[in-house]
Amino acid sequence: MSPGMLADVTATGPGAESRRAALQALDGPPFDLIVVGGGINGTGIARDAAMRGLRVLLIEKDDLGAGSTAYSTRLIHGGLRYLEFFEIGLVRESLREREILLRIAPHLVRPLPLLIPLYRSGRYPASLVRMGLVAYDALSFDKSLPNHRFLTRADALRRVPGMNPEGLRGAGLYFDAQADYPERLCVENVLSASAHGAAVLTRARAERLLVKDERVLGVEVRDLPSGRAFTVLGRLTVNATGAWVDELSGTLATPPGRMLGGTKGSHVVVDPFPGAPRDSLYFEAGADGRPMFIVPWQDRYYLIGSTDIRYEGDLDRVVAEPAEIRYFLEEANRIIVGAGLTPASVRYSYSGVRPLPYTSGTREGRITRRHILHDHAPLTGLLTVVGGKLTTYRSLAEEAVDHALRVLGRPRRRSPTGLVPLPGAAGEPGRVAEWLARERGLQVEVAERLAGLYGTRAAEVLRAAGDDPDLLRPLGGEAPTVGAELVLAFRAELAGSLADAFLRRTMTGLAGDRGLGALDAALEVGRRHLGWDAERSGSEAEEYQRALERYAPAGLPVGAGS
Ligand SMILES: Cc1cc2nc3c(=O)[nH]c(=O)nc-3n(C[C@H](O)[C@H](O)[C@H](O)COP(=O)(O)OP(=O)(O)OC[C@H]3O[C@@H](n4cnc5c(N)ncnc54)[C@H](O)[C@@H]3O)c2cc1C
Repeated sequence: MSPGMLADVTATGPGAESRRAALQALDGPPFDLIVVGGGINGTGIARDAAMRGLRVLLIEKDDLGAGSTAYSTRLIHGGLRYLEFFEIGLVRESLREREILLRIAPHLVRPLPLLIPLYRSGRYPASLVRMGLVAYDALSFDKSLPNHRFLTRADALRRVPGMNPEGLRGAGLYFDAQADYPERLCVENVLSASAHGAAVLTRARAERLLVKDERVLGVEVRDLPSGRAFTVLGRLTVNATGAWVDELSGTLATPPGRMLGGTKGSHVVVDPFPGAPRDSLYFEAGADGRPMFIVPWQDRYYLIGSTDIRYEGDLDRVVAEPAEIRYFLEEANRIIVGAGLTPASVRYSYSGVRPLPYTSGTREGRITRRHILHDHAPLTGLLTVVGGKLTTYRSLAEEAVDHALRVLGRPRRRSPTGLVPLPGAAGEPGRVAEWLARERGLQVEVAERLAGLYGTRAAEVLRAAGDDPDLLRPLGGEAPTVGAELVLAFRAELAGSLADAFLRRTMTGLAGDRGLGALDAALEVGRRHLGWDAERSGSEAEEYQRALERYAPAGLPVGAGS
């Protein structure tokens, strides 16, 4: 079937135009690049390739950023821990990228102070941590963030009064960065890719790589809303499906060996608790010496994680186990003695799979976090991305597109992505918030939220509100989301469902109430502004409830702490 014909049957309602345009583009000449996978790496590659003049198609089976990207610790970090394994190149690359992301996406990536408490019983002597931090600073000599410093025991306790004082010798204080919402980095990469001509199709699964005479010619794609299959041709296909990489490469007549060996990592989200630190804490778990984080998140909650467990299960249904949750709570209560965290303190949990290169026998924490680009020679027309952190997505994309230009015989053009800010990045978030509050009369809380999430694209939210002031009032619930954000998500940010809009556009679903307090008002916005009838509202609400199953521990209902 011709993909253009699909445009008639699958693209209706707000946002349908971009889907229709993407489906129609599939009828044109072969793409230069087909990127499979709309996580941070796939969207980064699509942006870079489109900016360097390639004709690009991005396909994603679910939603942008719905894979591992949505389930990480959300740090943009050099990887202090990797120094232990002498991964100097990776640390330097990550630190350079941290700086670039702070510059090209200041609304989405911000500096984060971290404190490493040093205990007498610790696995690493203070002198080694000190050496590590000195090396970290040396490897980020061109950074804008402050250098590390050491705190005496008294200073450390002054900074985090709740910290367990027993055996405490002092602490190292250093800076990394945090992307509260890497999901939105994906969205902004895609907005930029689309503005440079890329076609983007979500809910379209690559089912099979098409091969002829040792050459990958493209992919067979299934349009999930309609269930129909069609063929898309491209001169180079990039398998950027993260933890799913082996699934797609397994469709080759002669599949390569196993490339991916994922590990599962979980987190819990809690409200501020007695003794909660202002800074992030990076400490050794008492039970097994694993690195753990307690990170202030969304200016309102704390993220505690993570685990690192080899995983062979269903990649689309990864959830935290009650034992992991107990482990987080025990460790948090050990380091912050008065925290008093119990299973009832957990607002929700989430879990994802790190797409790591396959190794057998290596301890999880020792598996390299470096990415690998496989060109599959002597097969041509295929490039596979294995591994890759959030932090290094941009440099990975640059490397992939350099490769693409080479094999496509295109002139070398330098990647502009390190210099050209993401779409919402022009201007300072603080000043955008001030402008929204003062000039447009928005509540301060709403203005700050819009500036932090959308940067200067907050103006688009105002436009989406049109002349309906109701669309600029919070919907209710814990996140001060306004209705116009939903309208924008569907009309201009490729959201296809309420779950997309809540979990990966407006981020309402990551509030402590998981967006449930805003649900009814959101359905009303759907009815009034997006043309939803009662049936659509019902199915959106149901689908959203199903999506929330990822945010509850295994075997327990949504909302149960453990
Ligand atoms: C617990 C945990 C903590 C982490 N913490 C950090 C951190 O703090 N900092 C950091 O830098 N990194 C961190 N990471 C790593 C980082 O999150 C991932 O490496 C990164 O998000 C991977 O991005 P990706 O685009 O390769 O994969 P994904 O985000 O998984 O994207 C792949 C996409 O491909 C799609 N897909 C799969 N198969 C198909 C198909 N056949 N057709 C179409 N689409 C398909 C999927 O739906 C998915 O959306 C962490 C990861 C985890 C799990």
